[in-house]
Amino acid sequence: MLIRAHNLKKHFSIGKGDILHAVDGVSLEIAENEILGLVGESGSGKSTFGKALIGLHQRTSGEAYFNNTLLPERFSASDHLHYSKLMQMIFQDPYSSLNPRMTILDIIGEGLAIQGNLSKADIKEQVSYWLRRVGLHSDHMSRYPHEFSGGQRQRIGIARAMIIGPKFVVCDEPISALDVSVQAQVVNLLEELKQTLGLTLLFIAHDLSMVRYVSDRMVVMYLGTIVESGPSNEVFYQPKHPYTRLLIESNPEPDPNIERQRTHTPIRGEVTSPLNIGPGCRFADRCPQAMEECKTVTPEVTQVADDHSVSCHLYPG
Ligand code: SF4
Repeated sequence: MLIRAHNLKKHFSIGKGDILHAVDGVSLEIAENEILGLVGESGSGKSTFGKALIGLHQRTSGEAYFNNTLLPERFSASDHLHYSKLMQMIFQDPYSSLNPRMTILDIIGEGLAIQGNLSKADIKEQVSYWLRRVGLHSDHMSRYPHEFSGGQRQRIGIARAMIIGPKFVVCDEPISALDVSVQAQVVNLLEELKQTLGLTLLFIAHDLSMVRYVSDRMVVMYLGTIVESGPSNEVFYQPKHPYTRLLIESNPEPDPNIERQRTHTPIRGEVTSPLNIGPGCRFADRCPQAMEECKTVTPEVTQVADDHSVSCHLYPG
């Protein structure tokens, strides 16, 4: 396995003794050249997990491994320098993640400049190559972010991450802020780069149909924990956890003809507060199938098929 997390936790102290359990004991593995989809509503802890995995957040506890090497709980400046060559992140919002005062040359070439091995001419050549590789033009390098559309900015963000030559990339909702018409183009670009460069990706999103399309396996997160994981098609077409089922039912279908025939069951209520979480199933307040024991007993992980597991009292071990 290229990436492994074991019981990873990230808690934030927010004053007055309150603890926000953003990520609360996540364990998963990602094989080399695999795309793992990570889904859930806003506030489920997906992005925080991705950042904690690659050292952009200090872990509260638990372990994270890259290629069997235990990553430091808190990254030093030299750890960031070393691991940024191996692990990169593509951010959600292509509007705010690019510095508006920097040229595209400086934005994409910044990582190489920090590494300090290449001349300015070499960096320029690399930036030129990567602009073309992501479907833009070399002469875009003298321009500024505001001169580009959302889709083009996300391509710039992808070039910025790829130019370093990482092995593992966390794609944090890379298409959520884009028009539907350009979402597929960006996903296809990421898939093509994964194939040709042998990349391993953690693809974070809330659009399950897109995650099913792009990922080999899928992990569903709710309130800081994993509630279901398995092969993407199996989780999507045979979901076991009530939360996964409701997420799929509430997800719009891209084909308007199919969408017109569907009935939607919205998930009632909001994600429960991640403050000072008690025992029992975290989804119990919103679950249409909740039973008495769900309020007091935390469900164990149960294997329902090969490589398909679920945490729910409806599936006792
Ligand atoms: Fe619903 Fe109970 Fe399963 Fe939680 S454990 S998802 S409340 S049935």
